Amino acid sequence: MVNYKDLGLVNTREMFKRAVNGGYAIPAFNFNTMEQMQAIVQAAVETKSPVIMQVSKGARNYANATILRYMAEGAVAYAKELGCEHPEIVLHLDHGDSFELCKDCIDMGFSSVMYDGSSLPYEENIRISRQVVEYAHKYDVTVECELGVLAGVEDEVASEVSHYTKPEEVIDFATRTGCDSLAISIGTSHGAYKFKPEQCTRDPKTGRLVPPPLAFDVLAEIEQKLPGFPIVLHGSSSVPQDEVDTINKFGGNLPDAVGIPEEQLRKAAKSAVCKINIDSDSRLAMTAAIRKYLAEHPDHFDPRQYLKPARENMKKMYIHKIVNVLGSDGKLAE
Ligand SMILES: [Zn+2]
Repeated sequence: MVNYKDLGLVNTREMFKRAVNGGYAIPAFNFNTMEQMQAIVQAAVETKSPVIMQVSKGARNYANATILRYMAEGAVAYAKELGCEHPEIVLHLDHGDSFELCKDCIDMGFSSVMYDGSSLPYEENIRISRQVVEYAHKYDVTVECELGVLAGVEDEVASEVSHYTKPEEVIDFATRTGCDSLAISIGTSHGAYKFKPEQCTRDPKTGRLVPPPLAFDVLAEIEQKLPGFPIVLHGSSSVPQDEVDTINKFGGNLPDAVGIPEEQLRKAAKSAVCKINIDSDSRLAMTAAIRKYLAEHPDHFDPRQYLKPARENMKKMYIHKIVNVLGSDGKLAE
C-alpha cells in the first residue's frame, strides 16, 4: 500500500473548489510516454497551473500501470527541479471499469480515480460507484463518476450513440454515491472523429466540418440542481486543423477529423465544469511533428531527433489549452 501523499501528489478536492469558484477548469491530460509526461510538467510549471495526469486502460496496457505510477512520482520531482516549489499534480485513473481496478490504483498511489459505470443500469452504476467512493475516501482519494453516455472511441471505451445526462437524476446520483465530481454527457465525444459528417454542417468557405453545438441547456439545468458541484467533460479535444493539415500533408490520411470548438470549451470552463479531458489533441500534435520531421529528414533515425520536436509541439499545445481555453494559468494554491 502506497499513499499518494507520500509521493507528493494531491487529490482533486481543493483545486476543484477553487476552479468552480474561479470560473476556470483544470486540465486533465492523458499520458502514455515519457515525452508526454515531460511536456505536461513543463507546460504546467511554466504556466503555474495545477494539472491532472490521467491514465486510461489503453495506457496501462501500453506502458504498464506501475511504470506510469513511477512516472507520476517522477513528474512531481521534475516539477520541483524546474523551479515549482509546490506543484499540484493529480495522478488520476481514467475510466476505471471495476471496483477491483480502482482499488488497485488507489493502493499503488493514485490520488484520484474515475469509476465509469455509465453503461450499466442506473442502480448498478450507483451501487459500484458507492463501493469505490467508500474505499477511496478512507485514503482521502477523490472519485469521479459518470452519468450519461458519450459517443466515440477512446482506447477501449467505445459507444455508437450518446445519451445526454438526465438532469433529473443528478441529485439522487451524487447524493447516493457520494462522488466528488460528476462526468456528464452534453455532446462531447471521444476520439479524433467526434462526429459523422451527416451530424455536422460544412463551412462553405473552407469546406471543413462544423460540429453541432454542445447542449448548454442541459449543463445549465445540471448546474441548477447541483450548485457548485464539480462537473467533468470527457472527449474534449478540439482536433486542431493545423495539426490535421500537417499530418495529411506529410503522408497521413485523416479526412474530416473534427473536435469540439475551443470557444465552446472556454464557455463550459467558466461554468460548473472544472475538469476538461484532452487526449486526442496531444496525439495529433505528436504525430504531426514526427511526420513532418521524418519527411524533411529522411536520413535521420535517432528517435531523439524526432521526439524532441514532438515534445515541443505537445508542450505548445498544452500551454495554449491552459492559457487560452481552460484559464487555469497562475492558479496554483498560495
Ligand atoms: Zn473519457
